[in-house]
Amino acid sequence: MPELRKDPVIGRWVIISTERAKRPSDFKLEPEPKANANECPFCEGREAMTPPEIMAYRNNGSHRDAPGWRLRVVPNKFPALRIEGNLDRRGEGMFDIMNGIGAHEVIIETPQHLNDLTSFSPVAMEELIWMYHDRIVDLKKDPRFKYVMVFKNKGLAAGASLEHTHSQLIALPVVPKRVSEEMAGSREYYSFKERCVFCDILRQEMRDGVRVVAENSEFVAIEPFAPRAPFETWVIPKAHNCRFENAQKKEYEQLARILLLVMKKMALVLNNPPYNYMIHTAPFHQEDLAYYHWHLEIMPKLTKFAGFEWGTGFYINPTPPEQAAESLREARVD
Ligand code: ZN
Ligand code: ZN
Repeated sequence: MPELRKDPVIGRWVIISTERAKRPSDFKLEPEPKANANECPFCEGREAMTPPEIMAYRNNGSHRDAPGWRLRVVPNKFPALRIEGNLDRRGEGMFDIMNGIGAHEVIIETPQHLNDLTSFSPVAMEELIWMYHDRIVDLKKDPRFKYVMVFKNKGLAAGASLEHTHSQLIALPVVPKRVSEEMAGSREYYSFKERCVFCDILRQEMRDGVRVVAENSEFVAIEPFAPRAPFETWVIPKAHNCRFENAQKKEYEQLARILLLVMKKMALVLNNPPYNYMIHTAPFHQEDLAYYHWHLEIMPKLTKFAGFEWGTGFYINPTPPEQAAESLREARVD
């Protein structure tokens, strides 16, 4: 059973994932070979190679765990957390510990063996976003969970062990520290100015224009003022709303469009980089928050964080966001 352990100094929870237990000799420096299309467990027709599906969008007449799906969600075969059991929060001397209860799911984005979603149609991309919505709404019913992080790792350097394009989500029994910090900062800004900090960022960035990458009727994509890494990009909805899963249909439709556009621009300008994207949304079981604003963050993996970053939490970013925004803005795709 995996465990959640709390750092007594910083208050950060970590997952000690026994399902993935490695001996020291298992940490190889060279990457594992990627599954090729002939043995890929995510391709249509190999449904038996994954654990049974949790949810799928299927064509009429097709059956569970059989071909005929467009999007398919399965438990992670090597889950960081386990779905069954109680949290059993307890102390061990001065330390806080609980059972590693959570959900770890894989969202297989297409039955075809594609290694990225830049070739998706806007309709396929929108369906993927709806699947994120449906999974969050479903997991929210479980009273043990306080947060769901939806994320995508693309490329070995970004942590993807299979090349067939997929997203993941992890439902957690605690609110992660990074999210709590963002909530606390937004709350403080609001208590001082009585305005949402993200709404203010949007207003200022749209007025200045220098860090804007793209815009449509519902979203703006920007390079943030103080990015941690080159080409860090945020996609922010224009309408204030603290929760991704409460967004409107027209917003998902436009999110699909702007996300595809930004990813294509990145692929062109940065030569198909490995990347991560993450949906930042408000924790469960809280009111509608005036001070928090959901958004999506994209981090291409272009630099490595090293001793200084680990030691200080400072980031050294060699690319000014204004320059990154300009090259993405001007990249012609389509
Ligand atoms: Zn495949
Ligand atoms: Zn806002």
